[in-house]
Amino acid sequence: MRTAPFFLAAVLAASATAAIAVQAPPPVAPEARNVALGALTLTPVRDGANIAPNDGKVFGLDVGPAAVAAFLRAKGLPTDAIPLNVGGLLVRGLPGRVVLIDTGNGPTKGGQLMASLARAGVAPGAVTDVLITHGHGDHIGGLVDAAGRPAFPRATIRMSAPEWAYVRTQGSSSAIARGIAPRVRTFAPGAAVLPGIVAVPLRGHTPGHTGYRISSRGRSLLDIGDTAHSSVVSLGHPEWTMGYDGNKPLAERTRVAELARIAGTGMLIFAPHFPYPGIGRVVRSRPGYAWQPALR
Ligand SMILES: [Zn+2]
Repeated sequence: MRTAPFFLAAVLAASATAAIAVQAPPPVAPEARNVALGALTLTPVRDGANIAPNDGKVFGLDVGPAAVAAFLRAKGLPTDAIPLNVGGLLVRGLPGRVVLIDTGNGPTKGGQLMASLARAGVAPGAVTDVLITHGHGDHIGGLVDAAGRPAFPRATIRMSAPEWAYVRTQGSSSAIARGIAPRVRTFAPGAAVLPGIVAVPLRGHTPGHTGYRISSRGRSLLDIGDTAHSSVVSLGHPEWTMGYDGNKPLAERTRVAELARIAGTGMLIFAPHFPYPGIGRVVRSRPGYAWQPALR
């Protein structure tokens, strides 16, 4: 597993400190790989990695760490923590637009998003639109630079109206909210956000959690945001309770229903927390589903 050295280092670090929900992100190399979708070029831009300890507070709250460990062991994986990729999705090829969906942990947490964008040949000032799936720190942290100024000085920042209302009430993101407020434009859940990009309400994770369906020339891909966090645990057991979900029963119902729809249609998805680059398909498996990367 490519993240193993970071993973082990983080687990060792974690054992030396108190148990907290998310450990300090281990360093990762910037990455930006291009995938064609119709006339568009999609580029997952890597920001970092988060480590979710198997402590009964993140995955499988309803079944407990032993059941989660047994499932991971059966997959041949370490049982004490679950590594999660962090990153965004760059969309190029829409007329007059350079679009970025989500911005990662941000520069104060070692985020590599800007270096990944540079690899893709995109300067921050060239980004016209930043679309946000939801207001958690690993998605909006990169909206501002280390000094709290907008990281994408020309971009309009778009998120659903209920999500912006939620972000503004969160003390942990108040500095980010202040920094971006003049540039934010909200949309109604389910709205057409840009030509070729439609918002898809994926309810439960946060009040206005939104996926984005990107379409071009008869092809499409759905950015599922945090509908599923782990390509192993969330797909194998979508019915297990997830600690990061704000409304846990609603998020569970959404995850179960969406994965059935995604697997049933064979649609291409991008999942920011799945192993980089996080583009692929969900296929039926026992139990639940399995991840089929479109590229490795
Ligand atoms: Zn997240």
